[in-house]
Amino acid sequence: MATWLTVMTGKSGRIFPGHRLSAAGGDATPQLGQTRLATRPRRPVVVARAGISGASRTRLTASCETAGMRITVLAGGVGAARFLRGLKAAAPDAEITVIGNTGDDISLFGLHVSPDLDTVLYTLGGGISEEQGWGRAEETFTVLHELAAYGAGPGWFALGDRDFATHIARTSMLRAGAPLSAVTRALSERWRPGVTLLPMTDDQVETRVTIDAGGDAGSRTVHFQEWWVRMRAAVPAVAITFSGAQAAAPAPGVLEAIAAADCVLLPPSNPVVSVGTILAVPGIEAALRAKTVVGVSPIIAGAPVRGMADACLAAIGVEATAAAVAAHYGAGLLDGWLVDDQDKPAVDDPRLAGIAVRALPLYMTDLAASAQIARSALSLAGELACRAS
Ligand code: GDP
Ligand code: CA
Repeated sequence: MATWLTVMTGKSGRIFPGHRLSAAGGDATPQLGQTRLATRPRRPVVVARAGISGASRTRLTASCETAGMRITVLAGGVGAARFLRGLKAAAPDAEITVIGNTGDDISLFGLHVSPDLDTVLYTLGGGISEEQGWGRAEETFTVLHELAAYGAGPGWFALGDRDFATHIARTSMLRAGAPLSAVTRALSERWRPGVTLLPMTDDQVETRVTIDAGGDAGSRTVHFQEWWVRMRAAVPAVAITFSGAQAAAPAPGVLEAIAAADCVLLPPSNPVVSVGTILAVPGIEAALRAKTVVGVSPIIAGAPVRGMADACLAAIGVEATAAAVAAHYGAGLLDGWLVDDQDKPAVDDPRLAGIAVRALPLYMTDLAASAQIARSALSLAGELACRAS
């Protein structure tokens, strides 16, 4: 059951894991172990936290009271989806809103493809190919082969038959005039992901990559998917841009979900072309700066766990290390940062002054591991909100 409290601000407050309330709200006299947090202002009001011993804090953390909590997550594709599966397990009664990256969206065969939104829907809805981390399970490729027989391309972007149905459904709704947010809501009715999935914007934003074609060819700019999927990011990128982002508006509900959140989590998504794209939509980063934000590093021991995020980081001049990624986000945005045990020195890295860094195992090898990472992120968010007030 949700635990709601009226705090000194008169606004509703919620409880983070690790800060379980032992008595029902309305009692003005705080007791040992009670922590009361207001959603706003940024630093929630804490009526009392003195006297929580280390042992109690550990016990409280283990209790993980998340009922009724509002958690907002910025999401790319595979890294985000696996983290979200863990978050749902760690906070089964929380209200989770996911703001998805649409900079990877691409028009193929006249169809609107939203790879990151679909990865979240398929993963949380039980339709994902577990081996790949993207695309549908039990997929076949008859349509793509038939298209190839007509010489219709591109052939480098794998679209399976089941997946095609999603893109046909999405495109027909868009053509009928529905905005992407409404279409995503409609697709969610089938997949029932257990979170509210919002595209970052209803406007067109396209991630583009400028590559150095070498020799006299100079540079040319291609759609992100052409660089990422067709070229496997093997050609160095000299710039990554988010075409249309400046003129884009956050989709309905995005700023509201951030404002209402008890904490915002950045999963281990690509910092440049997943989280970075979402942050490029005007208004989103400013809204996040007013919240407690905790991120999970997608980089472990100087390399991405999967994919080519290092190539994206190189394009923007950021080292592929857990510490450099946190420094790139900056203390203005990020309050807490989880790094893998192998990156423990980041805990004391002077570049990360103002960001609370914790080291723990960060491989999402199974649901239990992902849930433990999510639990640690929530626990750190609670601790930071508590400390700052
Ligand atoms: P994409 O849009 O499908 O590329 O997915 P995301 O942007 O959401 O996530 C990609 C990032 O997830 C990559 O940079 C990976 O390093 C990271 N990632 C994948 N698996 C893991 C994992 O088990 N642990 C951590 N910490 N990061 C991971
Ligand atoms: Ca993506």
